[in-house]
Parts: sequence; C-alpha cells; structure tokens
Amino acid sequence: MAELFIDGQWRPAADGATRDIRCPADGSFVATVAEASEVDTLAAIAAARAAFDDGEWPTMPTSARGEVLSRVADLLERDSAQIARAEALDTGKRYVEAEYDVADVVSVFRHYAKVASTASDAGRVADVGREGVESTIRKEPIGVCALITPWNYPLLQASWKVAPALAAGDTFVLKPSEITPHSSVHLIRILDEAGVPAGVANLVLGTGAGCGGPLSSDPRVDLVSFTGSLAVGRHLMAAAAPTVKRVALELGGKNPNIVFADADREAALDNAMTAVFLHSGQVCSAGARLIVEESIAEEFVDEIIARARGIRLGGPFDDAAQTGPLTSEAHLRKVEAYVATGIAEGARLRLGGERATEGDLADGYYFPPTVFDRCRSDMSIVQEESFGPVLTVETFTTEDEAVTLANDSIFGLAGAIWTTDQSRADRIARRLRMGTVWINDYHPYVAQAEWGGYKQSGIGRELGELGLEEYQETKHVWRNTAPAPSGWWT
Ligand code: NAD
Repeated sequence: MAELFIDGQWRPAADGATRDIRCPADGSFVATVAEASEVDTLAAIAAARAAFDDGEWPTMPTSARGEVLSRVADLLERDSAQIARAEALDTGKRYVEAEYDVADVVSVFRHYAKVASTASDAGRVADVGREGVESTIRKEPIGVCALITPWNYPLLQASWKVAPALAAGDTFVLKPSEITPHSSVHLIRILDEAGVPAGVANLVLGTGAGCGGPLSSDPRVDLVSFTGSLAVGRHLMAAAAPTVKRVALELGGKNPNIVFADADREAALDNAMTAVFLHSGQVCSAGARLIVEESIAEEFVDEIIARARGIRLGGPFDDAAQTGPLTSEAHLRKVEAYVATGIAEGARLRLGGERATEGDLADGYYFPPTVFDRCRSDMSIVQEESFGPVLTVETFTTEDEAVTLANDSIFGLAGAIWTTDQSRADRIARRLRMGTVWINDYHPYVAQAEWGGYKQSGIGRELGELGLEEYQETKHVWRNTAPAPSGWWT
C-alpha cells in the first residue's frame, strides 16, 4: 500500500485512514493508499520547515542540487514504463499518452538540472555609483512550499513545481489529487533514491479539505503553488492571505482556436481536433472555443464533425483507442450538466452530448466528442470550462471581430491563430490577452518557455526562467567597505 512520506519515512495515516483507487476506464480496483488528515499534513509541514531552517539543502551550492536533479531524471527514465502504467491506471488515459507524459517529465527535470548545474551563486552586482560600496543582488530559496496538483496530468504538473523548487533549494510538501496519487508516490521514491535529504521532499495523499486547507493556511508555509480549478484557486488565495504567503496559481482556461479562411485547411482541421479532443478535453489549454471565419465555417465544422464521429474511445491498454474516459464519475456529471446547459441556452448540438455506453464503455466514464454550433459569447457554455470533449463554435467576418471574441473571457491561458498571412498572425498574437499564443500549431509547450495565465487563468509562471524565480526570494546585500559617520546628527 502506498503511504505518506514525511521526514524521510514512509508511514500510514495517523488515524489509519485509507482510500481505494479505481481505474475510471472500467471501475477496476487499482490499489489502496493511505489517506492523510490534518494531523499528517501538519507533521509534513513541520518536517519541511525543519529541513529548510536547519538542513544543508538550501545552502549547498546550486550546482550540487543540479547533480541530484540529473540523477532524478536518469531514474525517471529507468522507471518510465512502471510510472506510465501507474499514471494510466489512475487517470484512465491511454498508456501511450502516459508514456509521452513521462518523457516530458524527464525533460523538465533535465532542464532544471542544467539550469542549476550552470547557475552562479555569486549574484548580480549593481553599479550604485558610490565609492566604497558593493551592492549585490542574490537569489535565495523561498522556503517551505506547498505544492498542490490536479488529476489530468498528475506527474507532469507535479514536475513543473518539484523540479524548480528543488533547484532553488526549497523544501516542500507535495499533495497530488486524491484520485491520482501513484505517479507522485513513485516520484518521491526516486527523489529519496537520488539523495534528496530527509525532510526536503514530503508527500501527503488526501483531499482538499484534509490536506489542502492546512497547506494553504499554515504560517510555516512560505509559498503555495497550486494547479487546479478557478473555484479552488480563489478559495486558496483567500486562505493564504492572512499570512501573506506567496501564491502561484495555474487555473483554468477557455481557450480560443481562431481559424481564418486562408489557413492551411488540412493542418487547421487536424489540429482543431487535437486542440479539443486530446485526452477527452481534460487539458487546461484545450482549444474548446473554435472561432472560425464565416466564409468557411459550414464546411469546416461539417468536416470536424465527420472526423470526430470516428474517434475511437477505449481504456489505457486498448491499442485501437484514440482517447480515454473522463477521470471520475463526478467529472462525468459535470460535463453532462454543461451539455444540458448548452441545449437550454439555445446552442445547436451537432454531435455527441450523451455518455458513451456501447459494449465495454458502459463500465467506464466515457463521453464522446461533442460539438455545439451557433454559439454566442454571452452563453455560459462559451464562457465556462467544461474540461471535457466539448467544442463550441462561433464565427467572425473581420479580424477585429475575431480578436474581440477571443478576448471576451475571464480566462487568458492560451489560444491559437491559423492563417497563412504572417503579418496578420503577428498582429493578432500581440492583441490576444493570453499567456501562450500558438501560430499555426496547437498545444506544444516546452520546459524552456514560460507557461501560465493572464486574467483569472492564474498568477505567476511555471517553466522557463520565471518558473525558477517563482521559487526564489531576492536579497539585496549592501556592503560599505569604508564605513564612516553620516554627519547627519552633528
Ligand atoms: P481542483 O481544483 O478540484 O483540484 C486541484 C487540487 O486542489 C487537488 O489536489 C485537490 O485535492 C486540491 N483541493 C481541492 N480543494 C482544495 C482546498 N479547499 N484547498 C486546497 N486544495 C484543494 O481541480 P481538478 O479538478 O483536480 O483539475 C482540473 C482543473 O485544473 C481545471 O480547471 C484545469 O483547467 C486546471 N488545470 C490548470 C492547468 C494550468 O496549467 N493552468 C493545468 C492543469 C489543470
């Protein structure tokens, strides 16, 4: 049974509580894991605090931490098949997708290993224009970090936090989603094997109420880095406010995919499918809002529908499947309610809309590709995230109208523009209020470039240079090499 990892020790929950994990593809039993409560979470915070205040991890040379991260990447590669299997069983996603995810996780650790290995701890010297003064600006670890992650890309989301936190010299308590714990358990085993000292990396498995609450309010925690829903993000920010914690939020998105009539038709069509149906839409950057030029809209949407009708659903080890189930029954109910709202709001349902129950699919939480056209910006299905395989279609006739529709959202995570007119693409890219804009592509992200949201899609950035700075404090050290009385008081 997977347990909690606190101060270098695997242990059951203090009250002996456990949770059964089931695969959403068929309801089969995966494993029983320990379920932490507030007591365990407070113990994990105490361990992380002590390791930060008294341990060697925060003060060792950054390059030495880089070597540990490099070992972690090697061990992740060694265990990649095992980890991908665990991820596929917890989430129900296809094993081949989980393999891609683990490869991405390795690249994140390699990236931060390289950044740390080549970092200088000397700091930046500022020319303050004063004789006899040395002014140095240094980066230091921020302290104890609470890392709270969702269920859609469990290990990948954890890696975006764990790798930079370790590179920076922080200590942390990781709390994965209670329904997808196993890849995080494996990661912690690897950190231990790679030589991360006791107390630096702690793991609690449990709910938002049991673990997430204490992690976001405890005064011993310096930073809460959270990836998840807007509703929980708002709640967590309020919980962190009394102790003025640093808060990093990666929240939802309702991402526009803008297609102009002059776009490369085949590439735009294929990517419009990937944008929204990959992982059954359970992707924060899903291109769930198709905004297509009026002159091609009818034909373009007909073709998406024809192709989407043929998408094959199936479990993690079904080689014929192209995408998998939704991750829980609660999430399935949410997507069903979203579709009902769309119908009630007067959007036209062109495809899907009801749970898939053919054959073996009846045992899992499968939802087929679903398309609504005749959508308007004022409909809640256009404004709210479904986090399922549901596409809404709006049309435009001018460039300005396309931009206005795309920006008409409380979210600002990502978006894409499809056109062969590069100057138009550049103009629109500048006007979109989003953290990532893809031109003639959809979904790629890399460890070297920042990821995060404008507006209510979040605060801060993961990956890239800022992804490390999020885990650092900045200290200015002023050294007067020729101290003398100021003369003010004489
Ligand atoms: P969620 O907000 O329900 O849960 C996320 C995590 O927060 C889980 O570990 C959960 O246990 C914990 N949590 C729940 N209540 C809490 C509380 N009161 N205090 C502290 N922690 C609490 O989200 P989810 O359903 O797991 O994930 C889906 C959401 O995540 C979507 O909205 C999606 O857009 C978002 N997401 C965003 C990104 C991004 O990079 N911006 C990436 C992946 C997912």
